[in-house]
Amino acid sequence: MTTPDTYRRATRGAALSMPSLRRIAVITVHTSPLAQPGTGDAGGMNVYVLQTAKELAARGVEVEIFTRATSSADPASVTAAEGVVVRNIVAGPFEGLGKTDLPSQMCPFTAAVLREEANHAPGYYDLVHSHYWLSGQVGWLARDRWSVPLVHTAHTLAAVKNASLADGDTPEPLARRAGEQQVADEADRLVVNTADERTALQHYYGADPAKIDVVAPGADLAVYHPASKHAARAALGFGANETVVTFVGRIQPLKAPDVLVRAVAEILRREPGLSLRLVIVGGHSGTAEQSYSLVRLAHQAGIADRVTFLPPQPSAQLADVYRASDLVAVPSYSESFGLVAVEAQACGTPVIAADVGGLGVAVNDGVTGTLVNGHAPGLWAQTISELIHDHDRRARYAAAAPDHASNFSWSHTADGLLRSYDRALSRTALSPVLAGADRLRSRVTDLALRRQRNNR
Ligand code: UDP
Repeated sequence: MTTPDTYRRATRGAALSMPSLRRIAVITVHTSPLAQPGTGDAGGMNVYVLQTAKELAARGVEVEIFTRATSSADPASVTAAEGVVVRNIVAGPFEGLGKTDLPSQMCPFTAAVLREEANHAPGYYDLVHSHYWLSGQVGWLARDRWSVPLVHTAHTLAAVKNASLADGDTPEPLARRAGEQQVADEADRLVVNTADERTALQHYYGADPAKIDVVAPGADLAVYHPASKHAARAALGFGANETVVTFVGRIQPLKAPDVLVRAVAEILRREPGLSLRLVIVGGHSGTAEQSYSLVRLAHQAGIADRVTFLPPQPSAQLADVYRASDLVAVPSYSESFGLVAVEAQACGTPVIAADVGGLGVAVNDGVTGTLVNGHAPGLWAQTISELIHDHDRRARYAAAAPDHASNFSWSHTADGLLRSYDRALSRTALSPVLAGADRLRSRVTDLALRRQRNNR
């Protein structure tokens, strides 16, 4: 168990006023941090939760992550790393329940979280950190019950998504918008990826800027770093002289992989002799039809033989895909940050990205990559073509990319989270008598209920 002193030492002398952080409950209802990212609902948030949990545990803060079991084979709990436990909560059927069905399962899920805490001595968790609005609803109840602060990270916001939908994309429902509003109002602190996201929270949700902390996410720099491009290409079977442009992410309209298929088709129409390959890494998110229609699009555009589809890759293999690429393209309509852009740059690969959301922070425009203003395939064809032919510019971008990416490490992210937790704990500490009384009242009620149950 970490003592207050080791915690202070472990946080490297950051100005922490509250020495009481020993264990946090992290809530991520709709997707497990142990799921393979790049398909279904698993993406950047899963990576974020697992990587920050490991960093916090390495600093002596125990992390218990609550997620919903999605298979009968899921054990009740898994130790993901020293000090990091993932609890698989049974709430609703294991399979066949989509993200939009989950509000119906919030009650059993929350009950299981509260019961887990009740198995321990009072004050077992010092803080709750929820990810995505559904988890925020659970965290809100846990916070009130346990009298500990609630820190919330939205990851994406319905209002922002709805303001920049792709063609054919379904708007986020009012229920989500309303749920996000409640969590934004209730949370003690709100963690966002960028200053733009802070502005969006203020603008759309009227959030108090004084309780928002901007904490940039990171990349695992031990996995994503430059290494031999030649070896990576050989491992993946890409030609040594091919120009490779790569998309990595969940296949969904919001990520706009279709823009790349159309853009590459246009480039090849203009320069049929060009040895150009488009690599698309990831699985479908939403309906399988979205993946099939992308394959169909490549056939219709006559470039099926120039497009390679790869299933979701574990991080070590993904690092090789980045290294083997001349350009990584992120054409999303909306992106709260864009971990893929940072990971690619960490591997020494330039990025071409849509100038939306956090991508303007993740990519240093004109230094490590190029930001594109819009999603017209013609514009993307033009920009990709210029980069392909300008070897010097690409080499300059590639050389500068790892240095820019080094600004984003999970260690920095954990430092930022600890500062946010410290502010949250300090605020709660302003009313310690009240908090203590609440906790005592909860315990007395618990004991009375248990006694009644036992006497029945
Ligand atoms: N990812 C992965 N394997 C894949 C595709 C994606 O591990 O085949 C990971 C990728 O490394 C990144 C995350 O999924 O860390 C995607 O995060 P990003 O912020 O780019 O997009 P999000 O999924 O959050 O929309």
